Amino acid sequence: MPENILIAIAWPYANAEIHVGNITGSHLPGDIVARYHRLKGNNVLMVSGTDSHGTPVTLAADKEGKPVEEVYKKYHHGFLELFQGWGITYDLYTTTHTENHFKVSQAIFLALKGNGFLYTARSMQWFSPSAKRFLPDRYVEGTCYICGFEGARSDQCDNCGNVLEPEKLINPRSKEGGALELRETEHFYLDLSKLEPDVKKFLEERAPHMRDTVIGESLRKIESEGLKPRSITRDLDWGIPVPLEGWEGKRLYVWIEAVVGYLSAAIEWSQVSGEKETWLEWWANPASKHFYFQGKDNIFFHTSMWPAELMGAGEQFFEFFYPSPKKGEGNKLTLPYDVPANQFMNLEGQKISGSRNWAVWGLDALTRYDPDALRYYLTVNMPEAKDSDWDWAEFVARNNNELVATWGNLANRVLAFCYKNWEGHVPSFAEGGATPPLRPADRNLLADIENGFATVGAELEAVRLRSALGEAMKLATAVNVYLDVNAPWTAIKTDKASAALTVYTALKAIDSLKVMFSPFLPFTSEKLHSFFGYETSLFGEQYVEEIQDSLGTHTSLRYRAVGQIGNLSYWKPSELKPGQKLNQPGPLFKKLEESVADEERARLGR
Ligand SMILES: [Zn+2]
Repeated sequence: MPENILIAIAWPYANAEIHVGNITGSHLPGDIVARYHRLKGNNVLMVSGTDSHGTPVTLAADKEGKPVEEVYKKYHHGFLELFQGWGITYDLYTTTHTENHFKVSQAIFLALKGNGFLYTARSMQWFSPSAKRFLPDRYVEGTCYICGFEGARSDQCDNCGNVLEPEKLINPRSKEGGALELRETEHFYLDLSKLEPDVKKFLEERAPHMRDTVIGESLRKIESEGLKPRSITRDLDWGIPVPLEGWEGKRLYVWIEAVVGYLSAAIEWSQVSGEKETWLEWWANPASKHFYFQGKDNIFFHTSMWPAELMGAGEQFFEFFYPSPKKGEGNKLTLPYDVPANQFMNLEGQKISGSRNWAVWGLDALTRYDPDALRYYLTVNMPEAKDSDWDWAEFVARNNNELVATWGNLANRVLAFCYKNWEGHVPSFAEGGATPPLRPADRNLLADIENGFATVGAELEAVRLRSALGEAMKLATAVNVYLDVNAPWTAIKTDKASAALTVYTALKAIDSLKVMFSPFLPFTSEKLHSFFGYETSLFGEQYVEEIQDSLGTHTSLRYRAVGQIGNLSYWKPSELKPGQKLNQPGPLFKKLEESVADEERARLGR
């Protein structure tokens, strides 16, 4: 019975290019897990989009002197290009600036209000008399009243990590220049303290399979500090309006609406796919499994805020969003199953910084390296349990010693040897016919490979991707050892039948390993799949689509399953047929010069 899997990936802000730290933090792990579940024949829905609201985006627009809409679209289009180049296969990658997202976010807001989880309160906010408006939190900086850090934002200190009360900031100054004064304003608050018992219960149930780092930042924090109410509206003119009379000029805070994107994108995907209600199979279905990928700085929002919104909105959401027919009624919105947040990746021992150009940019890296080489290094170095470091010398070494030497050469030399000596076909056997007369060593190797589907699969399901890839690489090493012992290159001169058995066994092992490697290395695995002469493909295709609504046109990235009819599963051992026709093989990976490390280091910080 196929499972319904939602792969939900944190929404990038439209204020900066995406670098390798962002990719290894959320997009790549999400894509690997999505591809694995597709290969298993599960129903996968992978969604995200560009966070086009929020003050980081308006700040970027102010800085560039352009309309916000133009700036968000510029970054958004760059993201679409990047995800295609890296093979990040979103079923729908959209933006928060869509009519549908507005509606869904407002329905969540109204449901929370209807269920008594919102209240209003007055507070003091920094106001610019010259601009005649309240300034968003990020527009005001000053000295942190907790730790004394001088570059604190009015709502948060990046030095001590505390959430700040804007009016307590010492020496406040506007990023736009000009005078500041405190004025009273009114906002909606989400009463998280009311939802605390539910959030705790939800986290306690999932703690056994969630990462310790994530539980530490969520359940343990709630146990020691509790959940406090949070304001969820802002005085802004860009974003989603508060859907109530008398609240004009106020917008939903980006952190209450950006997370709603996981739900609204599923609904949009359903609508543009022509099956309006399909999203309910993920979102009104307690058996569906939802995985949320993001960096450690966003754990609170995905483990506490978003589950609180889902539980607080409850069945009421369907009444506001879906008045007739009342689809999904009586159902609750599906809660996260796992939130495998990653730690951070540094670069050459220093924190990645866009402003200092201390970064490896996702699009730029593709101009010099193949996507699978980059995906490989980012997976073996993924910051799953602790911060990791991108080191250019290590990138070259691991590419050459592991990807090229252990896996790429294995596939290439066996296929090339077979192609040359068996006239472009997998060896066939007079004796045994369709079932070759395998020897004990052949059977042992194939049994080890067959077990790999369970061991690598178990690691992938638990989102231990480094370990999953390590297991697959160990099996590739086992095939190399088998070939060293059986040396078909020598045997062919004296005993071609024995060489044929060795080559057949190795090819069958490689054909299986190709599937195990494919979630990590989709481009070269697809290439290898075609060398084997298969006419199907392992994965589908990405394409770009324009979608129109009352807010205008937005461009989305889509994914079309190709060659996978119904729930055909590739995640199983190879059934390679003796005599199968091969295609001309070629190398899968490129060896890198050692000088690459110095060349790349010279680019940094300039
Ligand atoms: Zn501080």
